[in-house]
Amino acid sequence: MTEEAATQFVIAGGGTAGWMCAAAISRFAPPGTAITLVESDAIGTVGVGEATIPQIHLFNSALGLDEAEFLRETRGSFKLGIEFDGWRREGEAYMHAFGDIGRPLGLLPFHHYWLRAKEAGFAKPLQRFSLNELAARTMRMHRGKTAQGREMPYAYHFDAGLYAAYLRKFAEARGVTRIEGKIADVVQDSESGDITALTLESGEDIQGSFFIDCTGFRALLIDGALGVGFDDWSRYLPCNRAMAVPCEGGGDFTPYTRAIARKAGWQWRIPLQHRIGNGLVYCSDYLSDDEASETLLANLDGKPLADPRPIHFTTGKRRVHWKNNCLAVGLAAGFMEPMESTSIHLIQSAISRFMAVLPNGRGEQATIDWFNAQVDFEWERIRDFLVLHYTANEREGEPFWDHVRTMELPGTLTAKLEQWKASGFIHREHEELFTEVGWFQVLAGQGVRAEGYNPIADALPEADLRAMLDETELALIEQVKPMPRHLDFLQSYVSGAAPRTEVPA
Ligand SMILES: Cc1cc2nc3c(=O)[nH]c(=O)nc-3n(C[C@H](O)[C@H](O)[C@H](O)COP(=O)(O)OP(=O)(O)OC[C@H]3O[C@@H](n4cnc5c(N)ncnc54)[C@H](O)[C@@H]3O)c2cc1C
Repeated sequence: MTEEAATQFVIAGGGTAGWMCAAAISRFAPPGTAITLVESDAIGTVGVGEATIPQIHLFNSALGLDEAEFLRETRGSFKLGIEFDGWRREGEAYMHAFGDIGRPLGLLPFHHYWLRAKEAGFAKPLQRFSLNELAARTMRMHRGKTAQGREMPYAYHFDAGLYAAYLRKFAEARGVTRIEGKIADVVQDSESGDITALTLESGEDIQGSFFIDCTGFRALLIDGALGVGFDDWSRYLPCNRAMAVPCEGGGDFTPYTRAIARKAGWQWRIPLQHRIGNGLVYCSDYLSDDEASETLLANLDGKPLADPRPIHFTTGKRRVHWKNNCLAVGLAAGFMEPMESTSIHLIQSAISRFMAVLPNGRGEQATIDWFNAQVDFEWERIRDFLVLHYTANEREGEPFWDHVRTMELPGTLTAKLEQWKASGFIHREHEELFTEVGWFQVLAGQGVRAEGYNPIADALPEADLRAMLDETELALIEQVKPMPRHLDFLQSYVSGAAPRTEVPA
């Protein structure tokens, strides 16, 4: 490729999405690729989005970030899963922990054996078979494989503003030009509709050949200029507000995110080194903003560090994410509520898919269609998984929860539920984000009963099944014992000292 032919990228918006795009393109694009990022200090960023899933490692390591430095810079902590408290019933909690549950035997995944044991009345709770959950519940942390070779996947909690600032340093060091200013107009070619420039309020024109819309909920380019439209998924996920507030640290320094069911939605709790991130996601048909603020402030571990901040949203996605010479990433592409911490992942997967077909210019239509079809599949499967958390509740008599229990379901979710209920079969379609193990934990945690299991599980004599379950549990407990506490591990790790290993009393 000649230097003249290299694509000139313009990224509109400097939140997590904008700086993740800038960092990735500057890291991988060929020399001569001009990358400009425009952001407005006056508008600012959404300022939330602090819990991730393990795939974030792929992004950070592709950039070559040093993990300890990253955790220092973003005041981050480790995350082994997400606790769902009260989602089935008040007073009952379960965890969607990362990593395996139990171990497969022969042809079957573990959950068929567990279902058999459950039917026979001797199955222990799922947490006994999850290394991540056993560690999380005892506030322990460990990186990578245990001495017994078991993988312990983890993700992070981090300060969203600090993460964007960290990536900004990375991107600017690799030649990305940052322009501060407010975009007032999007200039398009009158024939093709392609975007040719962004005009700032100052009158300056930022020209480019490919534009990435990271302007958040405003979606100035993909929707404002290119008018792609929005698929509204409120009928499946009716929450439309969040109230967010950070507070002083307190309570347990959990190596997991908490998602606590409330009257008309749920509250997140994300522990960082310097504060706890909190927010209430709710549906305005069932709860006023004032009630939301009161609920949130009444349920903090420490003193609030700001006033609660309302955020309005509509769940759904832009009909297409790539049109002409414009790609939407982040909130500009759409939003699903964050109980499974999927939004930053969706930014990352959009970037990696885009890098796989990095266009020289606007991109071929066949590639654009392929990209958009992948996005539809990915978003719809995640949506189904989120809806499962709501539809399978037993909080009878609470209007919001009654509504979400009885609402219309996407056909793809109905099919999955039918398979599970009939035979305990869980099918991960192609490369959908959530694995069988993830679906299993939420199905079981929400109390969705499977009437059957694969009869191959009956081939194992009951004594052997009992022994297999006992051995699996015991082995996991032994692996957790020497793990250091999350706080100690984190402090040692970010300061560069070797983590301490302890055996609990
Ligand atoms: C309540 C809530 C909780 C969330 N929790 C999680 C979570 O736990 N985990 C997770 O993975 N994700 C979460 N998310 C999603 C996550 O916050 C976003 O995916 C992420 O922050 C990316 O946002 P963004 O960069 O697309 O948008 P923003 O942060 O809104 O950034 C938009 C950028 O565009 C700029 N801009 C806008 N208009 C103009 C203009 N006219 N001129 C110039 N610049 C402009 C702004 O200045 C800003 O820089 C959550 C989101 C919400 C709403």
